[in-house]
Amino acid sequence: MILPSHFDPLWAAPAQASHEGLWFVFHRTNLLVYTGQDVPMLPMPADVLHGSLRVDPGAARFVGMLGDTPCWAARSAHADAPDGHAFENMRMLFNRLPDDLLAIGGRAVQMLEFDRSHAFCGACATPTAIFEGGRSRKCPSCAETYYPKVSPAMMVLIKRDTPTGRELLLGRSARFPRGMYSALAGFVEPSESIEECIHREAFEEVGVKVENLRYFSSQGWPFPNSLMIAYVADYVSGDIVPQEGEIEDAQWFTLDALPQLPHRLSIARRLIDSVIAEVNP
Ligand SMILES: [Zn+2]
Repeated sequence: MILPSHFDPLWAAPAQASHEGLWFVFHRTNLLVYTGQDVPMLPMPADVLHGSLRVDPGAARFVGMLGDTPCWAARSAHADAPDGHAFENMRMLFNRLPDDLLAIGGRAVQMLEFDRSHAFCGACATPTAIFEGGRSRKCPSCAETYYPKVSPAMMVLIKRDTPTGRELLLGRSARFPRGMYSALAGFVEPSESIEECIHREAFEEVGVKVENLRYFSSQGWPFPNSLMIAYVADYVSGDIVPQEGEIEDAQWFTLDALPQLPHRLSIARRLIDSVIAEVNP
């Protein structure tokens, strides 16, 4: 099936939008796909949707339009997928789903998670209601308004140029696949700027000082709700001291002896590749 490629993220469904669209059905954060094909339901047969999956159309969320096709998010109470389908972890689909479907799926799962985690007012415990056409949830009792949470995080690739060539400071967490190293990353703290976060994390995670921060790019990361903002920085001083409990190992790597790196579609890899390309075009 050929899909239109332009996705318009929207909050409220246009009046003409039917339920005959693309259905992103989740059990927890696992997306329903055709077994072996890695595409979501296109479209979902009504008997499957409301029968064996027991999706409540009233609790479905409109996610946006992919060309002329409305996209919907819904939860299934059942972990068992219908014949010919499977629930797959979204993280595992990262390298396999086309980019636009991955973006829609990421938005879909975050909207469902927002509805689940903000069903009640945190201030007075009254059930909240969808507000502003779906953009927020509001408490009818105390008027507290809630928006989907986005957590900014920084990523920084620290480099230095030595007489024998460029070196990259890469680290690994115990959670990484064995042997894989990447740029440093960490969450921004309240009232902190991205730049302050980079200086703090570089010192906390590996004990080094950096300068000349240069913005590279950013990427929404819906697992669960980050916005990764990536920079390049120049090394100033300090010997590498990996932060206990956070960084399993960190080292300077020369460009001809790099370790295993993150997947080529990730922002971490694009960041690393761009800094390598500056000296190895
Ligand atoms: Zn309230």
